[in-house]
Amino acid sequence: MPRALAAVALCLTAPAVAASPLTLQPVPVVERVYAVIGDLGGQTYENDGLNANLGFIVTDAGVLVVNSGPTQQVAKALHRAITQVTIQPIRWVVNLNSQNHYWHGNAYFASIGANVIAHEAAAALMQELGQAQLESNHRMLKEKADDTRLVYPNTTFPDRQEIQLGATRIELLHLGPAHTRGDAVVWLPRERVLFAGDLIYTDRLLAVIPIGDSRGWIEAFDKALALEPLFIVPGHGKLATASEARRDTRDYLTYLREEIKNAITRGDDMIDTVDKIDQSRFRHLVNFDLLADRNVTQMYQDIEKE
Ligand SMILES: [Zn+2]
Repeated sequence: MPRALAAVALCLTAPAVAASPLTLQPVPVVERVYAVIGDLGGQTYENDGLNANLGFIVTDAGVLVVNSGPTQQVAKALHRAITQVTIQPIRWVVNLNSQNHYWHGNAYFASIGANVIAHEAAAALMQELGQAQLESNHRMLKEKADDTRLVYPNTTFPDRQEIQLGATRIELLHLGPAHTRGDAVVWLPRERVLFAGDLIYTDRLLAVIPIGDSRGWIEAFDKALALEPLFIVPGHGKLATASEARRDTRDYLTYLREEIKNAITRGDDMIDTVDKIDQSRFRHLVNFDLLADRNVTQMYQDIEKE
């Protein structure tokens, strides 16, 4: 629908905004599949809150967007990037989990007629945490978060959902609780492309957070790699091979879990454990200083409850 797209383009250029609009640079993964690689650091004003990866899949029957971004402005920028590649309309947006950077652009895509889908546990967490996420983003991103509002998925799925768009089969899979309770991956069986969401971090240190499950994460990771993807778009980090994903995500999780279990068995308390565990092998990963100790603290409490 070129006329509708032209109208959208007009709306984007009409307001008198001083700063030039945000431009995203999608990288091709395979033909008609693209990733937008976010900043490796934390969310900041400077990076527009875009510190996670987005993507899109172009088919003859419309486009499926993977993650809508942290704000209305990022969502609009993603749409502009898509219109550089195709005139196909956006049919679907998948939110790979409930963290703001994956779904706070939903309002924009819903306003142009897209369906929004997420795993049912992710959708429940959005209801629970969305308002607080939005307030903290408005504080951090100031005018860059203008017009951002919460729009929840209009469709949820339990464990798997297939979406057929033209000749392209797209599978949405929940492989168990991992980084959060509601993580999903997008799997393209013919192209062997995996949008892994936060099941996989590369290049930067992963974050262990209260709404996740580190034991489940390792199991979900293994299920994802059992699909034998040829191309992996991590949730955070550059396009990765299976061995890079294993090195930066699985090896870290298993190492930390082993060390913490040993510490608990020895009777070390949490503070001692943070001091004693040597994580230097992962020091090269971005965000190490910010997250390494925090990860031990969170995982220690989780393992005590297992
Ligand atoms: Zn994330």
